[in-house]
Amino acid sequence: MALARGRASLTNVTRAGLDTLTTLFLCPRTHKRVAAFRDRRVRDLVTHACRNVPYYGRLFSAHGLRPEDVNGVRDLWKVPVTTRRTLQGLRPEEIVARGTDPGALIAAQSSGSTGRRLTIRRTWAEERLLRALRNRVGRRRGRRPWERGARLEIPERLRPHDARRPGIFLPKLGLYDDRSIDCLAEPAYIIERLRALRPSVIGGFPPVLFRVARHAGDGGLADLGVRAIVVGGEVLTPAMRRRISAAFNAPIHENYGSIEFVQMAWQCPVGEQMHLCDDTMVLEVLGNSQPVAEGEVGEVVATALHSYAMPLIRYQIGDLATQGAPRCPCGAPVATIRGVRGRMLDYFPLPDGRVVHPYELTMPMMAAHAWIEQYQLTQELVDRVVLRIVPSGPPPAEAMAHLRRQYAESLGAEVAFEVHLVEDLNLDANGKCRVSRSLVRSPYDEPAAEIP
Ligand SMILES: [Zn+2]
Repeated sequence: MALARGRASLTNVTRAGLDTLTTLFLCPRTHKRVAAFRDRRVRDLVTHACRNVPYYGRLFSAHGLRPEDVNGVRDLWKVPVTTRRTLQGLRPEEIVARGTDPGALIAAQSSGSTGRRLTIRRTWAEERLLRALRNRVGRRRGRRPWERGARLEIPERLRPHDARRPGIFLPKLGLYDDRSIDCLAEPAYIIERLRALRPSVIGGFPPVLFRVARHAGDGGLADLGVRAIVVGGEVLTPAMRRRISAAFNAPIHENYGSIEFVQMAWQCPVGEQMHLCDDTMVLEVLGNSQPVAEGEVGEVVATALHSYAMPLIRYQIGDLATQGAPRCPCGAPVATIRGVRGRMLDYFPLPDGRVVHPYELTMPMMAAHAWIEQYQLTQELVDRVVLRIVPSGPPPAEAMAHLRRQYAESLGAEVAFEVHLVEDLNLDANGKCRVSRSLVRSPYDEPAAEIP
């Protein structure tokens, strides 16, 4: 019985793979074709998860749902949202498809600077496909496969099954040869490595590239001939974008990726929106469990269309994003978001009972104060908020007074607010520099025992 089920599931997966390869790589891409493909994948994935993954089987039966109730993307809302915390609490055997040995899969830890991490597991073929889709986005952005890239990141430790990882074959052929540079190193060392590698494309977190850019100064790295810089994983202020672009004399492309879904969205080549990777995942932006209107901020919930070993169906990744147009104004046949705004973990619970996201506080600040290059907003106590600013130069007294007024109005009279002008902000151990954080527990926090 188990064997028969395993074999049926394998046939299913093979069929899904063929459908994916022909639709995504062989046929011309049209909105209609991608929409039909997404519906097929959602039906297939839901049926597979419900039958073969113990967690989803239980979830569906607990809600009286049958796989045939989900007939495509339009019915996905019927499936309850799954949080990272829920999956963290389960054993691998409960979230990985039956007949698959969790230990034989390629494992990666989902990021998260606090709390326990979630291990995401994929087969070799799944990993290969997601990376191929990521490379395709790179090509659309203008990356030539034979050009060398540099990634400013935490150097990857050797992972189990690393030898089978897809990423190691192409560089041997001189394709997508991305070299890793330790992003926690001093800017001078990073610049030395960049000069030795001479990459055409550089990727990294905004605060890391910002430090490097400030160290080098405007035009200081223009001789490297970098064609494009891809940034993501943290908030990029307009001033940081200007500085980085000026130092390298290269355009900046914002990118939205994750361990769970690999490539999620990328900046439209001609507009302000971000193109969603519609053929890789279904992304929803929700407020109170409903899709939010265009221009509104909500919680990101996504479904991975190509993950069968460890399905992620309506998985709440913990990010906040601004909803974009259902079709990009540039004419590309994709839905959009306007950008990623931060993490749900960062909500500030205030003494008056309100829970505000710091984005609501920093957005008006950035609109009014162009002299702020980089900032970090910390709620140290429920009634004490500290703002650290890296200014482009000494700000006028009236600008500081205006800033204090803005925060006093938003935070309320019970909260003491301090501003410190600093020369630099420290990077976190993961190479990021969280623009906002609360040291006070909020409803979105992980359980207390898991906070280091
Ligand atoms: Zn576009």
